[in-house]
Amino acid sequence: MAHSEWAEKDYYKDLGVSSTASAEEIKKAYRKIARENHPDANPGDTAAEERFKKASEAYSVVGDKEKRAEYDELKQMLASGAYSSFGGAGGTGFGGAGGFNVSDLFGNDATSGGFGDVFGGLFGDDPTAGASRSRFGGRGGRAGRRTQRSRGADVETELTLEFREATKGVTVPIRLTKPEPCESCHGSGAKAGTSPQNCGTCSGSGMVSENRGTFGFSRPCADCSGTGSVIKDKCPDCSGTGRTTQSRTITVRVPAGVVDGQKVRLAGQGSAGQRGKPAGDLFVTVHVKPDKVFSRDGDDLKLTVPVSYPELVLGGAVTVPTLASKVRVRIPAGTQDGTTLRVRGHGVNKRNGASGDLLVTVKVAVPKNLDEGAMSALRKYSEEEKRSGFDPREGWEGN
Ligand SMILES: [Zn+2]
Ligand SMILES: [Zn+2]
Repeated sequence: MAHSEWAEKDYYKDLGVSSTASAEEIKKAYRKIARENHPDANPGDTAAEERFKKASEAYSVVGDKEKRAEYDELKQMLASGAYSSFGGAGGTGFGGAGGFNVSDLFGNDATSGGFGDVFGGLFGDDPTAGASRSRFGGRGGRAGRRTQRSRGADVETELTLEFREATKGVTVPIRLTKPEPCESCHGSGAKAGTSPQNCGTCSGSGMVSENRGTFGFSRPCADCSGTGSVIKDKCPDCSGTGRTTQSRTITVRVPAGVVDGQKVRLAGQGSAGQRGKPAGDLFVTVHVKPDKVFSRDGDDLKLTVPVSYPELVLGGAVTVPTLASKVRVRIPAGTQDGTTLRVRGHGVNKRNGASGDLLVTVKVAVPKNLDEGAMSALRKYSEEEKRSGFDPREGWEGN
């Protein structure tokens, strides 16, 4: 918020503390109010939301040592009658960066229990969006922590795909709750029928320069919080921010061959920027469920097929599934157990139109309940095998 608004505020009262309260007392008071009045805990309770916003705004100033000193100084000056009004061209030492970043307040504080993560979109330049659980098992999302003044924050979410969906590619709807352009003012932040005006202080650039001796300084304009425009009549639905938190379904097209843990980026689908600034990006981390038959090695598809001992000795052919249908795989005579046979072109489709291979590993299944006919034939075979000179442990290192 602009510092020029400080004159009308009583931040200590908003936090229920005295103006001489310690930093620790202020922090405690704020945490308590924020916890009890958080919109997530009080859905639809606008009074609670108002208390929450007020306390957050108050804490953004008096919770910050430097800003609190400036605020106290201003209040004292006003009380002493030194200023009859406020809100001119600035440059009186109140030229902070404008706006504030909730993550800065909480981001590195382990005791806050991730408080910063749930403050999304109510104010500031670093909103955080939560993704609701989708039918594909998407879990709560969390926006990036970096402050981005020029555009909205990036949003991260997750979704889980079946193995075969991931290999073929799939289009998935996911539902997200995040800051969107305000529908009432179309993102401008100005009340219907009005529009934002160029800030006179900075001529719309959002920055003001000042010269001190031989040095020139440039800082964000305090009167417009660096946005370059001022709004006389704020849109009541978004409090002039140009965005409101909304739930929306986004269609995510996941390309064929996505692997577990891969991120899909949807440009411009993150949080809306303030007052019509471009939106951030949406990053979807894709999780892939394992399959009962197939596993993957890059674009190659792997499976293990049970075979009988005679199939390996005599050679033959087995039918195995592919992603699309089935394929016949020839087993050469004398194939060792555990051998992997490569079937070209039956793997995962690559983006260039080519395809990975299907890797088929043979594994002998040993029968347990053979009938007498088969058992006696096997005994006969065993004798014949010895007679022919076959020794399975010939050349074995354990001999
Ligand atoms: Zn609005
Ligand atoms: Zn300005």
